[in-house]
Amino acid sequence: MTNPSRVARPKSAAAFERATRSIPGGVNSPARAFGGVGGTPIIVKRADGPYLFDVDGYRYLDFIGSWGPMILGHRHPAVVEATIAAINNGSSYGAPCELETELAEMVVAAIPSVEMVRFVSSGTEATMSAIRLARGFTGRDLIVKFAGCYHGHVDSLLVSAGSSALTLGVPNSPGVPKGCTQDTLILQYNDVQELADFFAAKGGQIAGVILEPVVGNMGLIPPSAEFRKELRRLTHHHGSVLIYDEVMTGFRLSYGGAQELFGDTPDVTALGKIIGGGYPVGAYGGRADILKKVMPAGPVFQAGTLSGNPVAMAAGIATLRELKQNPPYQRLDQLTQQIATGITAAAKQYGHAHQLQRIGSMWTLFFANAPVTNYQTAVASDKQKFARFFWEMMDRGVYLPCSQFEAAFTCAAMTDEHLQETITAASDSLRAMA
Ligand code: PLP
Repeated sequence: MTNPSRVARPKSAAAFERATRSIPGGVNSPARAFGGVGGTPIIVKRADGPYLFDVDGYRYLDFIGSWGPMILGHRHPAVVEATIAAINNGSSYGAPCELETELAEMVVAAIPSVEMVRFVSSGTEATMSAIRLARGFTGRDLIVKFAGCYHGHVDSLLVSAGSSALTLGVPNSPGVPKGCTQDTLILQYNDVQELADFFAAKGGQIAGVILEPVVGNMGLIPPSAEFRKELRRLTHHHGSVLIYDEVMTGFRLSYGGAQELFGDTPDVTALGKIIGGGYPVGAYGGRADILKKVMPAGPVFQAGTLSGNPVAMAAGIATLRELKQNPPYQRLDQLTQQIATGITAAAKQYGHAHQLQRIGSMWTLFFANAPVTNYQTAVASDKQKFARFFWEMMDRGVYLPCSQFEAAFTCAAMTDEHLQETITAASDSLRAMA
C-alpha cells in the first residue's frame, strides 16, 4: 500500500520493516499498527512532556499518551524520581512490600465503592479477574457485556469487542473456543429497553454485567443517564455484580473516575493504565464482602509473579499523589473543550459532517451525521475520512489515535500554546480535505 503520508520518514520505515521480520505485524499490540488508517507507524525514540520524538527526528504532540496512562505527560519529574528510587531498592521481591499497601490505600481513598483492591499487571488481568470473582461470588455463569466495549484480550470477553479488534475487523477472534464465550451475552450500549427485557428473562442467572462507564474503545461514547441508572437498579434487584471497567476512565475523568463524575456506585471496578504511571499495573477492587472471596482471603483463585511490583507501585503512587495534590481535571476539561470547539468550528466551516464527542480530557472526532451512541452508529461513521484526517494531522505534527474507534487523550503537560497548535493543525487539515 502507498504510504498515505506526504512526509518521508525513512528511518521509521526501515525500523518497522525490520520489526516485521521478528515480531508479528511488527508490533506488540495491534492498536499500534496503523491498521485503521493505512501506512506504517512512526517508531518512537523518546518522549518528553506532551511530545513524542521519532527516529527520523520529527516531534509530535501526543494525544495517545500510551493509550491513556500518561495523564501527566511523559517523564514527569516526580514519577521519574520515585521510580528511580524504587529501582535502587531492587526490581521485584515476590514478597509483600509497603508500597503495595500505600497504593491500595490511595485507591481505596479515591474511589468510595472500592473498599479493597488487588493489584495485577494489566487491564486484561483486571477484567479477567473481576469476571471470575463475579462468578465465584454469585455462583452463576452468565456475564453481560456491551457490543463494542473492549475489556482486554480475555477469551470470554473477546466477543463483539471494540478497540483494535474492531479496527482490524475481528471483534470475535479466531482461537477463542465457543465454550469460552457461550456464557457471555451481548447487548447494545445505551439500549435501556433491551436491558430491561433481558433482565426480565434471565436476571436470576446473571453473575455480572461489565461495561466501560464512558466508552473509549469505540471512540468516545457517553452513557445516557437512564442507561446507567437502569443498569444499577436491575443488577441490584437481581443480585448481579455490576462491574465498571475503569481501566481507561479511572483517575482520568476525575480523581475518582467516571463513577465519581456520575455519582455511581458499582460493586466491582477494574483499573489499569494511570494507576501504574506508565508501568504495567492493573487492579480490581470493590465491595469488601465480594473482594474477601479472593484467595487467600477466600476461595476464588488469582495470582501473579509480578503483581504489586515495587517499581510499578512507586510510579503509580507518585502519579496519584501528583493528581491529588495538583488536580489537573478542571484545566484538562477546559483545554479539551477549547480544542473541541476549535475543531468543530473548522469542521463546520469546511463542510464536513461530524460529531465531536467529548467528556473531560477524552475525545473523538467522528465523521458522522448523527451522534454516535453504540456499536452500530460507531461502525457506520466514515472511517476513510477519519484516516485522511489522521494523516493530515500527523504530517502537521499532531499524533492522534490511529483509529476511529479509539479516544484521544489530552494530557496535563499541554498548555494554551499546544491547544492553538492543535486547532491550527486541525483547521488546516480539514481545509485540505474539503
Ligand atoms: N479495559 C479497557 C476499558 C481498556 O481500554 C483496556 C485497554 O485499552 C483494557 C481493559 C485492557 O488493558 P491492558 O491493555 O492493560 O490489558
